[in-house]
Amino acid sequence: MKNARINQDAALCKMHNHLTAGDNIAECLTCGACNSRCTWFDGTVDDHKGPIPRQIVRMATLGLEQQLVDSGMLWDCLLCNRCTEVCPMGITMDLVVRKARSLDIAEDLVAGDLKKGIKNRLELGDVNAFSKEDFVETIEWISEEFGDYVDDPEAEIPYDRKGSKFLYLPNPRELGLNLLHLTAMGKLFYGMKETWTLSSAHTDVTNWGYFVGRDDIARKMALMVVEPAEKLGIETLVLSECGHGYHVLKVLLEELIGRKPNFTVISIPELALEYARKGVLKFDPSVHPYKVGYHDPCNLARKSGVYDAPRELLAMCCEGVVELSPNREDALCCGGGGGMLQDSTSTKVRMTTGKPKAMQMKAMGLPNLATACLSCHRQLGELSKHYELGIKVDTVASMASEALVL
Ligand code: SF4
Ligand code: SF4
Repeated sequence: MKNARINQDAALCKMHNHLTAGDNIAECLTCGACNSRCTWFDGTVDDHKGPIPRQIVRMATLGLEQQLVDSGMLWDCLLCNRCTEVCPMGITMDLVVRKARSLDIAEDLVAGDLKKGIKNRLELGDVNAFSKEDFVETIEWISEEFGDYVDDPEAEIPYDRKGSKFLYLPNPRELGLNLLHLTAMGKLFYGMKETWTLSSAHTDVTNWGYFVGRDDIARKMALMVVEPAEKLGIETLVLSECGHGYHVLKVLLEELIGRKPNFTVISIPELALEYARKGVLKFDPSVHPYKVGYHDPCNLARKSGVYDAPRELLAMCCEGVVELSPNREDALCCGGGGGMLQDSTSTKVRMTTGKPKAMQMKAMGLPNLATACLSCHRQLGELSKHYELGIKVDTVASMASEALVL
């Protein structure tokens, strides 16, 4: 790095005025505890130099914005906040990195796929430019097959049904590559015996505005979910298995849109567990006669506090849940977080960022792993293939659907 001058007027430098927001970077003790927790910092894995958390914070504190942008660390950071867990001053790394990503001078670092997906979402309603007509055609097609799937000719996959109790917000992958997953979620709703619907107005649980640190875009995307949901008059928005989607639409939502929505928000594994506890959903664990490891998605677990519900649901659907080590607050990121998975050019890097996870999966010694995030699901599956682990990766909700007794 060239010699640099401290700039106390820089936006990042001024962050130390927001002491309660977790971005109190001026309080950094330079202790380096964060470095020890970042699983791929300082060449720990192979040839790719990862982020150096302490350096990110110090550069931000000193207002060295251009140097931070030029360091390449902003988009290497997975926004996993594993380093934040041990910071004695509670400095929240994802706030610092997202703020830095949002700087005008960092605009060129945003991957082309992310830019395109954000444009598609804002202009066409879906990151993959899936139109309302595509949505209706797809849902009507799978709805025709759904009666056979649950052995009830009256059963359907509804959309735009006003006054339904639940609105399910799928992941874009469920409307494209993974329609079977959407059908499987339909089976869970069918088993709950409650009214539910999809909406042709907002087909996407993801929020890529979050990845690029642009709260203005994240707010627009959140409102694209909230306003049509309120028009439908639903009671509860049920989120597909998506870590960052949950973090934005459940944890950050009120702050982001400046008000409470007229509905409650829950994820599909949490909802299925509620109905299982009430005795409405019943599962046959012999459908999966083996033990399954559980991976904590960073955004769902460490950043949103959801640890137990997916484990409890999974335990009802197989022979038992096995813990990876470390887990829960200490869990290792899958290596695809922070927007990396959404960048199609990132595959090689992701296999490096995910190497610690892959080694952890190998040490687990089991051929089955489940998680509660479709992004982690994809990354873990790719890691299994790349490192020849022979591990089958499922989502918790899809295993629950398979084990559901109708
Ligand atoms: S752990 Fe916290 S206080 Fe210590 S160097 Fe990292 S950011 Fe600074
Ligand atoms: S948020 Fe995760 S990837 Fe980023 S510096 Fe911290 S531990 Fe490393």
